[in-house]
Amino acid sequence: MNGLGIKELTQPELTGDWEWKLGRIEKGEFTRDEFMREIAEMTRHMVERAKTFDSDTIPGDFGVLTAACPRCGGMIRETYKKFQCGGCDYSLWKIVAGRQFEPAEVDTLINEKQIGPLTGFRSKMGRTFAAAIKLNDNFEPEFDFGQDKNDEANNEPVDFSSQQSLGKCPKCAANVFDHGTSYVCEKSVGPDKNCDFRSGKIILQQPIEAAQMQKLLNDGKTDLLKEFVSNRTRRKFSAYLVAKEGKVSFEFEKKVAKPKAPAKKKAEAEA
Ligand SMILES: [Zn+2]
Ligand SMILES: [Zn+2]
Repeated sequence: MNGLGIKELTQPELTGDWEWKLGRIEKGEFTRDEFMREIAEMTRHMVERAKTFDSDTIPGDFGVLTAACPRCGGMIRETYKKFQCGGCDYSLWKIVAGRQFEPAEVDTLINEKQIGPLTGFRSKMGRTFAAAIKLNDNFEPEFDFGQDKNDEANNEPVDFSSQQSLGKCPKCAANVFDHGTSYVCEKSVGPDKNCDFRSGKIILQQPIEAAQMQKLLNDGKTDLLKEFVSNRTRRKFSAYLVAKEGKVSFEFEKKVAKPKAPAKKKAEAEA
């Protein structure tokens, strides 16, 4: 959890988008004329909208979420820029760090208090990143990078030379090391990041020991871990962690059908 999430989420995404484009102009990937044309276009559009503004009649084919407002239980309606509760002032921005949320994703976020990791976010520097989103105790969305401090802005080189690699990064095959509150790909930190693989040392209250991370990286799967606690139900559950498509995800224990029958038979046979 980190402060950046809130800042990013409440800042109008427009400014971020313009900053990103200005960055591209500097790099010669976007021309000043294109930029000015977009601004003129957008200004015309905004003035047009402001003239005809009425929150109930903004044109668009916007629906209603199936999830109820987490604060008041009211109905949440999609509007031009937000998902807005009709019963109180609770709302969620539709576009967060350059990524637009689908209504179904917001349903999941509200119902489960978290969603993701989702891909396709873009930092102010134009770098794409993946992150989970969580609702905090106030039901405000925050990025969750599985670490206490977001080091997006921290470009200090990290010295892993005193550490043994835990295994190969499932995304880029570089080495994975213990780093603060996470296990990270060596290419996901420092000034020359080109990977974003990292996995928290505590996932849903289940501590992930280095030995388990080694198993995950080398065998693709941890032992069955039994101390996960669901954010939604607050119940404990067991799962394996598996590395799939460069991400760490859960694999649930396969329930054995009628576990008692064979045991009974065996007991009878022995008796
Ligand atoms: Zn509400
Ligand atoms: Zn990597």
